[in-house]
Amino acid sequence: MTIQSIKNSIRNVPDFPKQGIQFKDITTALKDAEILKEILDTCAQHYRDKKIDYVVGIESRGFIFGTALAYLLNCGFIPVRKPGKLPAKVISQEYELEYGTDRIEMHADALTRGDNVLIVDDLLATGGTAKAAADLVQKTGAKVVEFAFVIELNDLHGRDKLTPIADVYSVVEY
Ligand code: AMP
Repeated sequence: MTIQSIKNSIRNVPDFPKQGIQFKDITTALKDAEILKEILDTCAQHYRDKKIDYVVGIESRGFIFGTALAYLLNCGFIPVRKPGKLPAKVISQEYELEYGTDRIEMHADALTRGDNVLIVDDLLATGGTAKAAADLVQKTGAKVVEFAFVIELNDLHGRDKLTPIADVYSVVEY
């Protein structure tokens, strides 16, 4: 099993959700038991010697990989969600989109000062979403140890937004 076979398993859907976007569809990778295992084992291997207390996963595809990775790393999972979804008291962070702004939320008591956190999402594009998740984590006094993505789109330079905070790891790059 190679990185190329992981890449081959990710479907490219042109013009979704709007004209000009090349959507990286991970459902075709998730469906393949060997590929799914390879993605998760590759990630888990990378974090074997790093001290991680919690994986923070970003809604919604970050939940799929984040929870499985938390299991493999023997740590807990914390969801970062779209507004209005979490039931208890939340902290929230706004971030810029191409047009307008968006917001993500995390439970206010999810993390405490000194916790070591790995932020996980399926894909790194401009980095705005992951940066907002890092801002949320840092508001609690917890530390972002690293950012992990299955896919990184190099052309959008999302990495540049994140490396001032922590290292960025991705399984495959386009
Ligand atoms: P960004 O904040 O620009 O880094 O965007 C990252 C978020 O948007 C992730 O949660 C991705 O799932 C989603 N996303 C952005 N671009 C794409 C794409 N080309 N294909 C699939 N998902 C994308």
